[in-house]
Formats: sequence, C-alpha cells, structure tokens
Amino acid sequence: MYTNQQIKVVLVFQFLSIITGLLTPGLSLIGNSNPTDEGQVDIPSWLQLETPDPDNKNISLCTCLFSDSTFDKSTRKDFVLRNSLRILRRIKVANKIPKDSIYIPICQNPFFKPGQLDVTCTIWKRKGIITLADLYIDTLIDFASFAQLCNKYNIPNSHFFRYLQVRHYVKQRFEHFETIPTSHPFYDNLMLAPESKHFITKFVDCFTVSVSSDFLRQAWASDLQSDVSAELWEKALSLVHSCSINTRYRLIQYKVIHRLHYSKIKLNKIFPSVSTQCDKCSSAEGSLAHMFWFCPQLFGFWSAVFKWYSKCYSKDILPNHNLAIFGCSTETLDYTSDLQMALQLGMVVAKKLVLLNWKSTTSPSFDHWLKEMVSVIQIERLRQEKQDKRNRHVTIWRPFLAQCLITT
Ligand SMILES: [Zn+2]
Repeated sequence: MYTNQQIKVVLVFQFLSIITGLLTPGLSLIGNSNPTDEGQVDIPSWLQLETPDPDNKNISLCTCLFSDSTFDKSTRKDFVLRNSLRILRRIKVANKIPKDSIYIPICQNPFFKPGQLDVTCTIWKRKGIITLADLYIDTLIDFASFAQLCNKYNIPNSHFFRYLQVRHYVKQRFEHFETIPTSHPFYDNLMLAPESKHFITKFVDCFTVSVSSDFLRQAWASDLQSDVSAELWEKALSLVHSCSINTRYRLIQYKVIHRLHYSKIKLNKIFPSVSTQCDKCSSAEGSLAHMFWFCPQLFGFWSAVFKWYSKCYSKDILPNHNLAIFGCSTETLDYTSDLQMALQLGMVVAKKLVLLNWKSTTSPSFDHWLKEMVSVIQIERLRQEKQDKRNRHVTIWRPFLAQCLITT
C-alpha cells in the first residue's frame, strides 16, 4: 500500500519520465545523448539540453539526473527545468536514493571542468567512454587502469593526464571508488528506454518502501480511547480493497483509516479562527472519532444501522466504534465471512452519509442509508458474477433484502 506521498512521487516521476521520453524519443538517456546527434530541432526550447546548441553545451540532462546537480545560471533561468530538478531532488531525498550515480556522464558535465577544456572527452564519448560506469572494465568491478582503457577503447597515450583528472573526480564522488559503487535501481531504471516493458511499474516498485502505519493505529486508539490491536489494524487495512467493488467506497474507507478527513480540531490548527467545537452537538471538540462516531447527534443513526443488521441476520450486533470506523471489530472476526462482508459494506456506506453531512448540523437518516444500501447491493452483484459466485451474493444479501421487503 502506498502512502499519499509515495503516490504523489510516482505521479511526479511519470511527468519526469515523459520529459525524458521527449528528450530521447525511442532511446535511452545515455544512448541518445551524443551532442552531435541531429533531428532534435522540434523539441521545446527548454528541453534543448541535449542539442548541439553551443550556448548549452556545458549542461547535460544526464548530469542533472544522475548527480546531485546544483543550479547554475542557465537552469535557474528556466522555470520548468528549475522546478523539475527541485522535484527530482525531493524524490531522491524522500526515497533515500544516493545523490550520485555511476551513470554520471563524463562529457557535458559542468562539475567535471577539465572535460570542457578541449575535445578529449568528446573523443572518449565517441569511442564509448560515456559515463563513469564505463571506467570499470575489469570484469565490471575494478576501476580501469589507463592501460586497460587504452587497450579497450583505443585511446592515445597523450590522454593520460585527462585520465588522472577523471580518476580524481570519481574519487571525490565515491569514497571507495576502486570497486564499482552499487547502483540504485532508480538510476538503473532511468537508463531504460521509456517505451521498455513495465517501465512505470519498475519505478513504482522502486518507490515501494515499507512505511509503518502504526502511528495511525495509535492515533485512532488515542482518539477512540480504546485499544486497537495490531491484528485488528491489519485486518482493517486489508478491508480497504475488499469492502466494495466500487472504487469510491474503497477510497472513502482508505481516507477514513488514514485519518485524511478534516476534523474541526484539524481545521482549527490550520485556521485558528475556526472553532474546535462540533457543529452538530456544540458540546464537544470535533475530533475524527467524535465526528464519525461519538457525537450524540449520530447516536440514533448508528443505533438504527446496528439494530437493522441484528434483525436481518438474527444476531446481536451491538454498536461498536471499531466496527463502524474500521469495518471490523474483535467480535466480528469470529463471524461468518458472509456476515463480515455485509457489515463491511454497510459501515462504509454509513460513513459516506456521515461525510455527506460532515458540515451540517443534522445527522444522516437511516432511511437514506437503507436506500443507498439497496442500490449498492445491486452493484455488488457484479463482483460476485464476475467471480462466478452469484450464489455467494445471494447468501450474503438475501437476509438483508428479505428484511427490506418485510419493512416496505
Ligand atoms: Zn458532536
């Protein structure tokens, strides 16, 4: 499961990958970064980092992507480039990605000044020494000696001094440069062609770090003033994807669990002029637990919902804040899976109605909930039919719908 921040990062990176795709259509970043390449005249002006424009020849997109680049005059001037680099830097920090990569280019690298003095590095580039990774040729582990480079790339002996300068540059970037530094998957993915298979998925995997949600569990436990066990919390998290076939309901459940709604207390922190008092009862502070459950104005609504379930399924299902908010409780874990599914959907629909009346002084009505449930149950039928489990739908909802017929 991704946190909101991770989702944002992925979306932002998709934007960045589109940029790289525009820059190097059909080819990887390094593969098409030759400044003498032709046919890139149609790209927008701010994307012309890789063009043979003599004014831009000292700036390289690859340098920006693969190293911790600071902004020089030309990047600072460009709004899109400047902000794209800022976003990239934040992505690196948020995902603990090393600042530098072995894919830093040698040519067109403003941080390797000797490379800009003459055509030596351009010659190296034409011969195949494009990035720092190309300097590791001995079984791709050890930093190459000058003799090894000459032997492999046919470099003249007169380039020896430039070799020493490159070696010094690598030593400054990587503490243990003698052996090839481990490459982060983020940089490996950047080397892929944008149209390669599972391109975006690889980045998503790259950003999927296990972030503990325990702070949310503790926040709910404190808000509800009761224990929320780790087992119950795990179950609640898993229900986000199974509470309904409808994405909107899943999103509601996700936002509730992750405490993303604006309670009066939260609003007060942002806008001190807003009162912390609950708009419905004006007798207590509007915490999330209060606004979803504890508010006396909601008592009748929640009681009616639980009473309805007790009647439908001939079982005493007592009002329970864990069940209402998380869609499960310690007690319901022992219920049949059919009843658990029926309760999960009912609770998320109830929360939807609470949210519809979030700013209102009145509470949602039970009749509205029942009407909404009958409509949603028909949609849920699709899920079972899709899974070839039509009988399951009947088992889950027949008691509920039968009670509706009796009542009406
Ligand atoms: Zn209240």
